[in-house]
Amino acid sequence: MTLKKSFLRSVDNPSNKIILAVGAHPDDIDIGCSGSIAKWIKEEGEVYYLVLTDGSKGSEDHKISNKELVRIRHAEQQKAADLLGVKKVFFLDFVDGELENTPALRKQIVKIIRQIKPSTVICWDPALYYDENRMFVNHPDHRVAGETTMDSVYPFARNARTFPELLDEGLEPHVVEELLIMNFSKADYFVDISQTIDKKLEALACHKSQFSDIKKFTQMIREMNKRAGQKAKPKVGYAEGFIKITLRKPG
Ligand SMILES: [Zn+2]
Repeated sequence: MTLKKSFLRSVDNPSNKIILAVGAHPDDIDIGCSGSIAKWIKEEGEVYYLVLTDGSKGSEDHKISNKELVRIRHAEQQKAADLLGVKKVFFLDFVDGELENTPALRKQIVKIIRQIKPSTVICWDPALYYDENRMFVNHPDHRVAGETTMDSVYPFARNARTFPELLDEGLEPHVVEELLIMNFSKADYFVDISQTIDKKLEALACHKSQFSDIKKFTQMIREMNKRAGQKAKPKVGYAEGFIKITLRKPG
């Protein structure tokens, strides 16, 4: 079998791209790739967000109830998505900090993939446990979100015999053509976000509950995307980096 490039839909193509970005918590996608999201929406791409957990652990303030925190974080994520022009945000509301790669979670992700039929799915890197250079240990929900999304893309969303009850709901198998994996240190594919970095920082500022000093945080993100821009070939002002995997069509 040969891979016909023209046959594949991709974020590189000017049209016909449907993108599903999957994060563990409200704010993950905006931190990781909202500059690219803004760019693709400008190019008339259709973008959807899928947030797997309810974000109920994302505060040190004991006075806020879980219910209130979840409400705040939903609203913040929705506001950021609206600002970017995201078509829809799916919230699955699994408990923050307790995410596991289970058939129940895979079924929910497969269901959404089969509904919206994305050409590209974006997820966290399931293999990233830590980064000694960045003095960083990854959140377990990020790893699980990455792994479960990857499993859902391949093989389960494309396999008719997985969750056969979905066929009764009219949700036919769907082949995702491209995976973009977010890992801030390791990337082989860069999206030039020089025109959308300001929009990204605006989207990040919607997540007020998450940052005590939003100016400091957005400055850090700006620097990070600037460094990524230096790694791009050719170099650009600001970039977001991904590991890009093109998936084969069956047959
Ligand atoms: Zn997170």
